[in-house]
Amino acid sequence: MNAAKGITPRAEDFSAWYNDVIMRAQVADYSPVRGCMVIRPWGYGIWELMQGALDGMFKATGHQNAYFPLFIPQSFLAREAQHVEGFAPETAVVTRGGGKELEEPLVVRPTSETIIYAMLGKWIQSYRDLPVLLNQWANVVRWELRTRLFLRTTEFLWQEGHTAHATAAEAEEETLRILGVYREFMEQWMAMPVLTGAKTDAERFAGAVRTYACEALMQDNRALQAGTSHFLGQNFARAFDVQFQTADGGMDHVWSTSWGVSTRLVGALIMVHSDDVGLVCPPRLAPRQVVIVPIWKSDADRASTVEVAQRLRQDLERAGLRVEMDAREGMKPGAKYYEWEGRGVPLRLEIGPRDVAQGQVMAARRIGGKQPVPLADAASAIVQLLDGIQAELLARARARRDEHSVRGVTKQQLIERMEEEAGFAYAGFCGDPACEQAIKERTKATVRVLPDAEFRSPEAPTRCVWCDRPAVTEAVWAKAY
Ligand SMILES: [Zn+2]
Repeated sequence: MNAAKGITPRAEDFSAWYNDVIMRAQVADYSPVRGCMVIRPWGYGIWELMQGALDGMFKATGHQNAYFPLFIPQSFLAREAQHVEGFAPETAVVTRGGGKELEEPLVVRPTSETIIYAMLGKWIQSYRDLPVLLNQWANVVRWELRTRLFLRTTEFLWQEGHTAHATAAEAEEETLRILGVYREFMEQWMAMPVLTGAKTDAERFAGAVRTYACEALMQDNRALQAGTSHFLGQNFARAFDVQFQTADGGMDHVWSTSWGVSTRLVGALIMVHSDDVGLVCPPRLAPRQVVIVPIWKSDADRASTVEVAQRLRQDLERAGLRVEMDAREGMKPGAKYYEWEGRGVPLRLEIGPRDVAQGQVMAARRIGGKQPVPLADAASAIVQLLDGIQAELLARARARRDEHSVRGVTKQQLIERMEEEAGFAYAGFCGDPACEQAIKERTKATVRVLPDAEFRSPEAPTRCVWCDRPAVTEAVWAKAY
């Protein structure tokens, strides 16, 4: 497919392309408030499908939803030293309400650990009250100076999970369970392959003992942190004095976790799959999976093709598919195709008079390929086609990522690679933050993760890529969003 008018080609300017795709697909728009965005129905539809899938997975792993206030007393944030240091520079603070100065300023939540721990302190008394497995769907505010639609906005939507446990081992297990849930969601729903692993101390969440992340590679070969899961140890429990009576009668602070993914995932989905024509949406997260376009020249043709299209629509909806029917008058089929391609509908079904006569429809895949589908039992054939597209998108993204991953790089190769094609570079790391900082300054790359076993190189690196001292781990480097 040729590039669409009004869309900057990816190869020319990736970030202009990204914005153009969002505008053309009507996913989001800039708002009158700087740094904030408006999520339009098409984009919100993608987010709702993401929410639905994740919410089901959270509940299946024993979590319940709750809701905590948007405002947090400023003093709460200060109770955990690293946490306040990490978040204070980007908070929005309310100092007036109802026309009066407030006695204590209120922070608009940048994340909710502090207010949740203030409440857990009231609710948890004994080991019998544990574990507490909560999730909240909410908006948060982090004052950003340089913003980009979905990737970095001052206000964004997300879920934040917060759990409290009786032992460190249980909390650590929970942290990794959720990392697995995120990975499954990203691969099976978003068709986006991810690397998982731990963050270095320099990259971990403010207030966490250990942070784990899912990292994906975008089409410009930059990495995007798609989700994080934190083992918080007893840091917040101590700061908010959340203690419980243990089974043997002693007292201990709870061990806790927090984890989140945000509307940033919508940006990731766009950057992983879309092309120079517009949005490419994986079928499982497409607000409309199928668009049916009846084609006619005469009124008689119109009546017959629209009738067949309507019956087909009912069949597909009965099979659980999300279907759009585009029978608009006064618009050429080509113009309709162009519009739905730009919006990323995975499959288009064209029905002309000849198709009606032959008892078939033409199925055109958004990612290329066209074939006739018999109208008899069309639903199961269409479901199969959509499953095929979903699988192909994941395979394609995985092949792309692997093609732009390199293992065992030397210092010189790391420098050159980050200047040119970027991507993921696997290398030995001594673990010294000074080395990490030096690499960041020289190459603009950061450690994305210390990869989990499954992603590690078959032969463990023995030397640090930068200082040549013995490596304590393998690290994956990339330039990141
Ligand atoms: Zn080193």
